[in-house]
Amino acid sequence: MKYIGAHVSAAGGVDKAVGRAVDIGANAFALFTKNQRQWQARPLDDGVIDAFRRACEAHGFGPDQILPHDSYLINLGHPEAEGLAKSRAAFLDEMQRCEQLGLTLLNFHPGSHLRKISERECLKIIAESINDALSQTRGVTAVIENTAGQGSNLGYRFEQLAEIIEQVEDHSRVGVCIDTCHAFAGGYDLTSREATRATLDEFARVVGMDYLRGMHLNDAKSTLGSRVDRHHSLGQGNIGSEGFIAIMQDERLDGIPMILETVEPAIWGEEIAWLRAQQRA
Ligand SMILES: [Zn+2]
Ligand SMILES: [Zn+2]
Repeated sequence: MKYIGAHVSAAGGVDKAVGRAVDIGANAFALFTKNQRQWQARPLDDGVIDAFRRACEAHGFGPDQILPHDSYLINLGHPEAEGLAKSRAAFLDEMQRCEQLGLTLLNFHPGSHLRKISERECLKIIAESINDALSQTRGVTAVIENTAGQGSNLGYRFEQLAEIIEQVEDHSRVGVCIDTCHAFAGGYDLTSREATRATLDEFARVVGMDYLRGMHLNDAKSTLGSRVDRHHSLGQGNIGSEGFIAIMQDERLDGIPMILETVEPAIWGEEIAWLRAQQRA
């Protein structure tokens, strides 16, 4: 069973995101539980928490179909003490919001070395940040997203993800979300069914399929290995349709939220319907 949806708006309250997912025919969704471009957020209101939980139950969304994304400001690999402390505090708050909402996954970008420390050092700091957050929360898995490797962002090679995971103490609460646009920009070919299967085989070998807890399905305006993060609608970019067909037909990818972050929300419903149809194509 494939869970397919999109990163829907939570404008007006996180409970409003659920109906937006239903409207596009999704059986999975992603959301921000606070404004993703601000450090501070008001605590979640009890009424909103209740409404969110009730809406999820009413529409059949279990916690394994929902992939919240953290704020873009957070850098868990920050090379400086002040920036790191601020990021860790904000990440803990994100984790706690998930706990309150009954959610079990939190998707985030690993972090950036800002050209001030080595990659290895930065990966170690990221793992320590994850350990720090996991030790203060229960039931929420830290889901590391692979990146396009733009600027000094780490996590664009599967080996980097594996190196972080290796240093996380609780392996039952760390996982990975593969973003197809980011993987492609990071140098992983997804342009044919064979290439896509080979990329997933490599992920299985380097990281392990057991760690795969979600996917972001995005085509790419950027090119293979360009390290540039530019999403596109499915089938319209440099990845093309074949890779997404291979993903839909790969049973290793059952049971995880697969989330569109494509550029035209107006066609998310069509994209979801197309993806569903490919399971049998
Ligand atoms: Zn992301
Ligand atoms: Zn993504």
